[in-house]
Amino acid sequence: MNIKQNIVTKNPCYTCGRTIAVKGLMIHSVGCPQPRASVFANNWNKAGVNKCVHAVLQADGTVLQLLPWNRRGWHCGSGSKGSGNNTHIGVEMTEPDTIKYTGGSSFTDLNPAATKDFVTKTYKTAVELFAYLCRQYNLNPLADGVIISHSEGHKRGIASNHGDVEHIWNKYGLTMAQFRKDIQAAMGGGSIAAGGQAQSIATTAPEALKTIKKGDTVTFAGGPVYKSSTASQAAVTKNVISTCEVTALNEKGTHPYHCISRDGKGVYGWVDKADIRIN
Ligand SMILES: [Zn+2]
Repeated sequence: MNIKQNIVTKNPCYTCGRTIAVKGLMIHSVGCPQPRASVFANNWNKAGVNKCVHAVLQADGTVLQLLPWNRRGWHCGSGSKGSGNNTHIGVEMTEPDTIKYTGGSSFTDLNPAATKDFVTKTYKTAVELFAYLCRQYNLNPLADGVIISHSEGHKRGIASNHGDVEHIWNKYGLTMAQFRKDIQAAMGGGSIAAGGQAQSIATTAPEALKTIKKGDTVTFAGGPVYKSSTASQAAVTKNVISTCEVTALNEKGTHPYHCISRDGKGVYGWVDKADIRIN
């Protein structure tokens, strides 16, 4: 998995600035035969587009991150009990150009072997991304309602009536139950470093973060690193867990802490509050 930041700074989900407390993750499938995530990023990076997900992922392991993870996305509409947009990060999987939709969520498969290969690979990318996000937000992938598909969200009354992702997964033997188990396995029983080696990190309630001072040692849990505390695009995404010194603070900034690795992991710049754990 390779997370690339491509923040859609013109999309209303970004510009309106609303944030959520992340309680879960919702998986979607785009519903059209378009394998390239950049197409969605470009289409949605406009004022007046009334939808946006947090990320779109590809079969080759690329994840294009379109919104900061704690921005409120518009990805699932709403149902009788409210909207998953208020609680869940939304991620779209791209779909192969070897299928052709025939109406609703029905499609014909022009090349079953290639389609299965593509769908299996996007599934794998999704498992890796969701394991990474579960670690970031301290989520239990097996807990009720934490990891759900768009269609499961509809059944729970928090999403519009769509058939993804089961409309495509079911044809290739993939299920949400297995997805949740695979995420847990990828987390290595509760913690994972995005680089692959399992590592445990300390977690602290966000309220405790108020007490961070210049000179404190903290754990960076992996995520974007910015050149300034107010930058809209990350300079780099560091998927490492690193012991860092806080060398400057800007509590009013979007990325309030300037961190420098003290363990050689190469973090150097401004980072988000959500990516910091107090040691
Ligand atoms: Zn959907």
